[in-house]
Amino acid sequence: MPGEIFVITAPSGTGKTTLLKPLMAADPRLRFSISYTTRPRRPGEVDGKDYFFVSPEEFRRLRDSGALAEWVEQFGYGYGTSRDWVLDMVRGGGDLIFDLDSRGARALKKEFPQGTLIFILPPSLTELERRLQGRGGLDPEELARRLANGRAELQEPYWYDYLVINDDKATALSHLQAIVQAARCRTSQLWPQLASLYLGRNH
Ligand code: ADP
Ligand code: 5GP
Repeated sequence: MPGEIFVITAPSGTGKTTLLKPLMAADPRLRFSISYTTRPRRPGEVDGKDYFFVSPEEFRRLRDSGALAEWVEQFGYGYGTSRDWVLDMVRGGGDLIFDLDSRGARALKKEFPQGTLIFILPPSLTELERRLQGRGGLDPEELARRLANGRAELQEPYWYDYLVINDDKATALSHLQAIVQAARCRTSQLWPQLASLYLGRNH
């Protein structure tokens, strides 16, 4: 059975990392899709786990050779997804979670239409700003850039498959878990393996 593709988009500071950690810890079938990026590593981030951190030259080489299923340039850095890596994972039956902006989500859905798109929303713009500021680690310019980008991203959720509001963390987490389970129960996913159990048998 091929694996599922889940694409998560959320404005920076919404609480995506906060929610994905317990989601993935409780569900060993879920694996995180590791993107390439040219942005510097943040404290605590691990190369090959959070991202593949590459130089701008290496990123350009990957992009120009067609190795990226999708890529964007944002906040002055490149971010992109390796096509072969995704195909290998999905063929191997792994359920992959992608953390992509809305442009990446749109591009990935084109290439993998079976993917489930989930947008996580902050309860308000004021709360988004409070969380982003509270997390720390951003200079005022980058903070302003991420807030402006977040406001633009919040024009996009209407074409996603599912919306999750991260107000109360436990509620948001249970909604994410329900979406993951629902996707796995889709007829298109299950019937190909089940059909032989039932078809052509009269007893
Ligand atoms: P993102 O990964 O979306 O950029 P983070 O997960 O780093 O965001 O969360 C940003 C900040 O908001 C962190 O300080 C986190 O503790 C806080 N946060 C996340 N979810 C909630 C929530 N439901 N209620 C209150 N604060 C939250
Ligand atoms: P951050 O720098 O905070 O890790 O990520 C910034 C933004 O880049 C987030 O909105 C995240 O969803 C997005 N992002 C991370 N990896 C990729 C990727 O491979 N492709 C696209 N399109 N966006 C990505």
